[in-house]
Amino acid sequence: MLDKKLLGILVCPLCKGELHYDKSTQELVCLGDALAFPIKDDVPVMLIEEARELSLDEREKY
Ligand SMILES: [Zn+2]
Repeated sequence: MLDKKLLGILVCPLCKGELHYDKSTQELVCLGDALAFPIKDDVPVMLIEEARELSLDEREKY
């Protein structure tokens, strides 16, 4: 389980915007950039190279 405090201080490395935590996929989502950053072993991987691009469907989800 991801630390809520940690979650509160994390921002998107690209736009410094707020991130949305998706429990089901264990990802941190930036809507502005339509990117999802993986959380591996409870550690958010805030690297552009590791991020996944969101599909259109996913963008509408948030
Ligand atoms: Zn962003």
